[in-house]
Amino acid sequence: MSKFKSLFKMDKMSLKLKITLWYTLCLGLLSCGILLLVTNISTDVLLRDTGRELVMAVDGFERVITTNYVKQMPIPDRMLYMDGTQIAVYDNEGNLVVGRNPFGIEDVSFESTKTPREIKYNGDTYYIYDKPIFIGYGFTVWIRGAISVSEKTSAIGYVTGQNTIMILMVVILSGIGGYALLNRTFKPVDKIRATAQDIFEGSDLSKRIDIEDGHDELHTLATTFNQMLTGIESAFEKEKQFTSDASHELRTPISVILSQCEYGEECVTDMDEMKEIIGSIKGQTNKMAKLVSELLLISRMDNNKINLNMEETDLSELLTFVCEEQREIRGHDILLHQDIEPNVMANVDKLLMTRLFINLIANAYQYNKEAGEIVVSLRNKDNKVIFSVRDNGLGIAEEDLPKIWDRFYQVNHARNNNNSGLGLPMVKWIADCHKGELSVNSKLGEGSTFTLTLHK
Ligand code: ADP
Repeated sequence: MSKFKSLFKMDKMSLKLKITLWYTLCLGLLSCGILLLVTNISTDVLLRDTGRELVMAVDGFERVITTNYVKQMPIPDRMLYMDGTQIAVYDNEGNLVVGRNPFGIEDVSFESTKTPREIKYNGDTYYIYDKPIFIGYGFTVWIRGAISVSEKTSAIGYVTGQNTIMILMVVILSGIGGYALLNRTFKPVDKIRATAQDIFEGSDLSKRIDIEDGHDELHTLATTFNQMLTGIESAFEKEKQFTSDASHELRTPISVILSQCEYGEECVTDMDEMKEIIGSIKGQTNKMAKLVSELLLISRMDNNKINLNMEETDLSELLTFVCEEQREIRGHDILLHQDIEPNVMANVDKLLMTRLFINLIANAYQYNKEAGEIVVSLRNKDNKVIFSVRDNGLGIAEEDLPKIWDRFYQVNHARNNNNSGLGLPMVKWIADCHKGELSVNSKLGEGSTFTLTLHK
């Protein structure tokens, strides 16, 4: 029993084999059922017809014997053997009067029945039908008709045997064909498994499933799997780039701080020079602190860990405050004009929106030219709030425009300053959080305009 069980351990069988076995079994059972039903019905019909045939033959013979008796004519031999029916006539004592014992059947008592009886004789099955006839003067004879049932049913047995062989062949062929078809159909699944295994073993996310033409569900699954791999690969690459950029950005101020410390420790005796070094260290530390805080915010952004605190805010008031603060920090070399409509209200996260305003205005200062100008504008228009910062500074080259939203991206002229290239990605993320649209219009050497549109 345990051997039998282990042979058919379902959980160890492949899905293809399970499906093939199941359908082959169903087909086999169904075919056998139909064959059994057809055989039974045919046998029933055949036996009924055989019985009727026998009765008709005996009845026919009765008419012949009566007529011939009256006319004193002999009974022709052909009347005794018709279509497999054999007939003989016996006297009242059971002695043969006309013909031979049908099928050699002897010593079977005579019975007057309405329908033929079934008897076994010498291992074969027969129907016999006895009919008494009174032929006058109290003289009775028995007509006995017999027909071989075994002979008749052997034809059915032969056909059944042929059908069984045919069914067996159809079942085997359908099993083999079904398995081959499933094998072909399941190819994408095998490829998905092999690709996943390759990626797992070689950690190579660039691997893709080699999909042949096809539009069934498994091909769609393989295509989706490839798309998913492309997404994962690009996210993974971005993550790698981010980590490498972040460590690169942190390494620069750290090495400046270290070298300043070493220099101060070994070479500086003068207090003024020492103060200068400490100032530089402070500057680098501030840069690092800013970078770390931006990195922290970005990682919280990525992990969706920032809870938005949306509230109805007077943006005019908030923006005026930011402009004044920036003017104070940056000085008056660059002119900042405010074109702010009063009482522009919107449902925003105040802290994040302040960060967005500061970043865009600080950039307009940073990437401006000497004695440049900035125009900060805020308006309510068609149920929208439109905020923009325009400067007439350095501008951005057309080829750099799509990249400025990437993390750590800095246009060449912006390098070596105190920035990290994380400002605009953060601005974009804040705009997205508010379902706002952010756009930039810029021309190298002429200036840039950043616009945020919020829908109310
Ligand atoms: P950064 O920390 O370098 O300012 P940002 O993400 O804020 O990083 O900006 C990315 C790059 O876009 C900057 O390095 C700069 O070259 C360019 N940029 C941003 N704002 C302006 C602007 N108003 N004018 C010209 N270039 C700008």
